Amino acid sequence: MNTVQILFLHWLWHSCYNRRAAIFIMPAPASESALVEIIRRKFALRGQSRGLAVGMGDDAAIFQIAPGRLWAISTDAFLEGNHFSHRWHQPQEAGYKALARAVSDLAAMGARPKYFTMNLAVPAKLAGRWLNHFLNGVRQAARRYRMNLIGGDTTRPLAHGFFSANFMVMGELAGYQPVLRSGARPGDILYLSGLAGGAQLGLEMIKKGAGRNQRTRALLRRHLRPEPRLELGEWLARQKLATAMIDTSDGLSTDLQNLCAASGVGATLSAASLPVVAIPAELRRLALHPVRLGLHGGDDYELLFAVRPRDAQRIPAYFKKVPLTRIGRITHGAKITMDTAGKIQPLRASGWDPFR
Ligand SMILES: [Mg+2]
Repeated sequence: MNTVQILFLHWLWHSCYNRRAAIFIMPAPASESALVEIIRRKFALRGQSRGLAVGMGDDAAIFQIAPGRLWAISTDAFLEGNHFSHRWHQPQEAGYKALARAVSDLAAMGARPKYFTMNLAVPAKLAGRWLNHFLNGVRQAARRYRMNLIGGDTTRPLAHGFFSANFMVMGELAGYQPVLRSGARPGDILYLSGLAGGAQLGLEMIKKGAGRNQRTRALLRRHLRPEPRLELGEWLARQKLATAMIDTSDGLSTDLQNLCAASGVGATLSAASLPVVAIPAELRRLALHPVRLGLHGGDDYELLFAVRPRDAQRIPAYFKKVPLTRIGRITHGAKITMDTAGKIQPLRASGWDPFR
């Protein structure tokens, strides 16, 4: 081989190598679902997965541990600055909410909570009183949902690091099947529990300095103290009434899109029937739009579920004082639209997305 040939091969190798490198460099994901898709492809199931009934892509993974006995497992991160702020949230409220929002994913499967693990990263300045109140809040939620802590990890972030709490929650389904995101079929009717947009309204109120008085407390509560719809989720699963279900943690428009994508269907919502939160007169100055809050506001932790038309008469108007509202239906195709007084427009998923 002469010098020219060697140089040519050298160049060829380098250019191929670099190109290969360029192909495999991961672009920064543009959305949460784009990142999840990258992760899903990287970690496709390999080897034995006996007992695993549902893997990645739903609100929780499902394991069968014995005939008729299933376990649901999910995990959730709760970060200072991202999910709560010292300016607006008391430590006990933050602790309660941190576990409650993790438990909501069990409600979305129809599972009954049993155990949780907790990983904490605690900056030195929060390690005393603040942490004690935070843990009291977590304990309050654990007692309410009848869960026991079975393990975890604690660490201290470097200087200027933030507080974070990561929970893994485990729940049981004894003698019935979970409701997945993927079972919705064209013609099914869409229901939503509770009110849409309440948590976002509560957050806006706190940010704008609304005082904590008798009148505002109920509204703030939706943001500070979400109630995962555990009993409703379990009832829908046991009665086999829901064909698909998801909890509204990121905002109705985004969660509806996730449910539809998993089911391979589209949907149309009726704007007039959305159970949107009413904005009190003294808050008109905030110029908040109730339908927009209801569609895109996050943190509600209500259940969005689909029901076969023939089962619709079995869905009550209220389940233990929680309203259940028909908000639209599942359609063929992948389009998600909203019907506003007969005018059909595409509905973009514009809920909470930390990557956008
Ligand atoms: Mg969820």
